[in-house]
Amino acid sequence: MNKIKLLFLLILPISIISFTGFVKMDQKENQNMKEKMISAKVDSLLSQMTIEEKIGQMIQVDMLALENPEDITKYYIGSLLSGGDSDPKDITPKGWAEMYDNYQPYALKTRLKIPLIYGIDAVHGHNNVHGAVIFPHNIGLGATRNPELVERVAKAAAEEIRATGMNWTFAPCVAVARNERWGRTYESFGETPELAEQLGSAYVKGLQGEDLSAPNAVVSCTKHFVGDGGTTNGKDQGNTEVDEETLRKIHLPGYIAAIEADTKTIMVSFSSWNGDKLHGHKYLLTDVLKNELGFKGFLVSDWAAIDQLEGDYRSDIEKSINAGLDMVMIPFGPKAENNYVQFYNHLNDLVKEGKVSEERINDAVKRILAVKFESGLFENPFTNKSLTKNIGTPEHREVAREAVRESIVLLKNQNNALPLSKDVKNLLVLGKNADDIGAQCGGWTITWQGKNGDIVPGTTILNAIKNAVPNSKVTFSENGKTNEKEFDAVVVVLGEKPYAEMMGDISDLSLSKEDVELVKSAKKTGKPVITILISGRPLLIENVLDQTDAFIAAWLPGTEGTGVTDVLFGDHNFKGKLPHSWPKNMEQVPVNHGDANYSPLFEYGFGLKY
Ligand code: BGC
Ligand code: BGC
Repeated sequence: MNKIKLLFLLILPISIISFTGFVKMDQKENQNMKEKMISAKVDSLLSQMTIEEKIGQMIQVDMLALENPEDITKYYIGSLLSGGDSDPKDITPKGWAEMYDNYQPYALKTRLKIPLIYGIDAVHGHNNVHGAVIFPHNIGLGATRNPELVERVAKAAAEEIRATGMNWTFAPCVAVARNERWGRTYESFGETPELAEQLGSAYVKGLQGEDLSAPNAVVSCTKHFVGDGGTTNGKDQGNTEVDEETLRKIHLPGYIAAIEADTKTIMVSFSSWNGDKLHGHKYLLTDVLKNELGFKGFLVSDWAAIDQLEGDYRSDIEKSINAGLDMVMIPFGPKAENNYVQFYNHLNDLVKEGKVSEERINDAVKRILAVKFESGLFENPFTNKSLTKNIGTPEHREVAREAVRESIVLLKNQNNALPLSKDVKNLLVLGKNADDIGAQCGGWTITWQGKNGDIVPGTTILNAIKNAVPNSKVTFSENGKTNEKEFDAVVVVLGEKPYAEMMGDISDLSLSKEDVELVKSAKKTGKPVITILISGRPLLIENVLDQTDAFIAAWLPGTEGTGVTDVLFGDHNFKGKLPHSWPKNMEQVPVNHGDANYSPLFEYGFGLKY
């Protein structure tokens, strides 16, 4: 090697390192500059605010609980939300955008013209909007093990959310679901902290993008802090009974990664830690989250969750705000108990009495205003109508289809039953869930609990099969009864009905009797049987596994059923890996990766390929 070459080879890496160093420095400096500018704006605005105006910023009212939109002006309300069932009458993109645009002027009529920040449970796409793309629930994303893809999913979801104006979603859920009895298991990426860390932070980046004030960026709300997935018996809103080391090892890493990814808001969990409700937990909310982990955004409560603290409403407010809560989600109007007017009055009194310091109020309001400034709300408080076309685009459907494809997990494939040949002449498809878009989407779709049936446009697995093999005869029977005798293979689609929090908790993970019978009747035909399970969690399948040649866990894939057939007919290989250990029986639940005496039916990470 000559000297010049050698010199070049030495200099090249050095110059690359110093160049990237410069770029990094530049980004950091830029970031610091931005932060300084925002904090100057926040300080100047805060210095003009009365205590009443400040308290108003800390109130978030559910849209349906708002008795009169004038109350936004009267109580200086800082935020509205649409909970799982708080939809406008017209749930088209236009209807949603109009609703958002109709509330904002009431905030802009206040003396200081501080815009509302509107939050929504868009947890797998803009899921309460008719025509939006519904992405797989987090459990499916967990099976992809693909942060890059998850970031694109969140980015596509963000584009659809902004299409109707609002810029804040209560996602991602970084719960580490440790017991499949829990009805929110599907909202979690899986049973290990690594999945929450890697995929939760990717989700935050996808929603918020590089520039939070960009027209397609959405403020993320990482939830539910902390330990929501670790409650005893998987009880929703229950008690997580673990020592601090375990809490930190299993349930905290998702938040550390989300804060690193700059999540602007975090929602506090309904649950308790060793008997103490999180909503009053000063150590976890202030000492750990804000001080130790350096979380600079704001903390929002869950749905009327402070009401569950001991004592009356006034003491709930005192305790939670002093614990470090910055914004309170209030789903009740003036005629109900514990409503937003009471909150406003109580907190004003508590400050006057010195029970809540003005310093604490200033800290909360600074955090809220900073997010409003950073996200460009002051400049763009209304829907950008040119974005409305972003709902349900072919590009977004393509991302969802890719996510479905990578999320489905092959648990069994004997005698090469899969992939199915596209030359198949006759196919028999059995089971209600084969042709039910509502079941495919699960909870948090159009309504809070979700619903069976034709609730959103999309492609069911049955239609995806028909489209994949247009020249074959496809016979469908919901209940397994058919006169058809000639077919080459049977596809059976089983699984759960939609559910969400509270209603989704169960003590028995067995398949329904009808589902077991359906697989047995398919087996009797003597033809290859391919079983697809639509579910929000692993169910007990030992009694059907030997009755089927192939078995696929498809989770809750959403509107793009074509992602399933992409793999079923061999255009793509399987990639999905189990985000949960698959239990053999109820005695074994909870069973988690890393347990002593670990012997599930299928291990965490299991997934076959062609
Ligand atoms: C849920 C949250 C949700 C909130 C608003 C609560 O009941 O726990 O996940 O974001 O309601 O709908
Ligand atoms: C709301 C949900 C909320 C739930 C909690 C429902 O009525 O729509 O958003 O999470 O109540 O109780």
